[in-house]
Amino acid sequence: MFPELKFSEAEIRRLLNSATPEAIQNSLAKAKCNYFDLLNLISPAAMEFLPQMREKAQACRRRYYGKTVTIYAPLYISNSCVNACKYCDFSIRHKYERKILTLDEIRQEADAVRAMNIDSLLIVAGEDPIRMSVDFLCEVGSMLKEKFSYLSLEIAPQEEDNYRKLFEAGFEGLTLFQETYNQELYKELHPVGPKRVYDFRVWSQLRAGKAGMRNLGMAFLLGLDEWRLEAASLGAHAIYLQKHCYESKVQFAFPRITATDGGFQPAHPVGDDELELMMLAFRIAFPECGMTISTRECPEFRDRMVQLCADNMSAASRVTPGGYALLADEDVGQFTLNDSRSVEEVENAIRRNGQEVIRKYWDRAL
Ligand code: SF4
Repeated sequence: MFPELKFSEAEIRRLLNSATPEAIQNSLAKAKCNYFDLLNLISPAAMEFLPQMREKAQACRRRYYGKTVTIYAPLYISNSCVNACKYCDFSIRHKYERKILTLDEIRQEADAVRAMNIDSLLIVAGEDPIRMSVDFLCEVGSMLKEKFSYLSLEIAPQEEDNYRKLFEAGFEGLTLFQETYNQELYKELHPVGPKRVYDFRVWSQLRAGKAGMRNLGMAFLLGLDEWRLEAASLGAHAIYLQKHCYESKVQFAFPRITATDGGFQPAHPVGDDELELMMLAFRIAFPECGMTISTRECPEFRDRMVQLCADNMSAASRVTPGGYALLADEDVGQFTLNDSRSVEEVENAIRRNGQEVIRKYWDRAL
């Protein structure tokens, strides 16, 4: 469980299992939810309230985000990694040739993304401290900040000073998945490499927030452990960050992990209804926070959730280094994509649903 959570796993289970229909109705009627309301809304009993939760979540979404949907794309610059996460095909234990893009290759990839009219870019790299140094990432930021109005990072956890350097180089957001908040399971799934250290990972957003990052993205991997316990930790982690990094915005993602080519099978698969319930609950409990729906989900589900609760979605994503311009079809992607629509198709779907696409929502010049 999240280390600062004041309740044991057994107490969280008891709170989840004892939520009554009356308690859930009370939580839904509140103007501002607290942590116990979040537990009520993700409880097994809340499944009966999906229609009411859809209505409430949509109202919260509209209040804070109107009809806007922001669009971004991930740019994988390396699949080299010194860790051996059991659920990831980038693991060091999988033997295939790794690719680290040069600055020139990154520029070509970024130009291809920009040509699709994407103005918000997430730079993604595996964990390889020697070959993917902070200095190199700073060069990437300096090169790309003139091309994109918003740059964010999904990289190995860093010390606060390094986050500060990256922020100064042009990166304004950090996305970092805790994978699982279950300390024992975390050890088992991360047998070697720097990622073994749970504590260094779990306090990454705190360090990034102190270093000035404006967006703090957080998630666990859905499928590794019981999702309700993980969601209880995610909620507690978000409240902690809101308190200690009040100048930054918390952004949730709900990535479902799938079987990998390396043979990994999720032990606790999460169904569509359960994922929907969790996303609605987080929108209701954290109405001001960002929420991303990734290309791991199919188009129908994404289009529905972006109307009900999510406000940010990726489009035309490629999850291989070189996937946009350098043609690397034979490379190994980090996970399976389930929405292969172009940016135009995604944007048309958003407009058909009466929503508005926002490409640029931040301007450094102002
Ligand atoms: S999940 Fe991240 S750290 Fe783990 S093997 Fe994959 S790329 Fe490396």
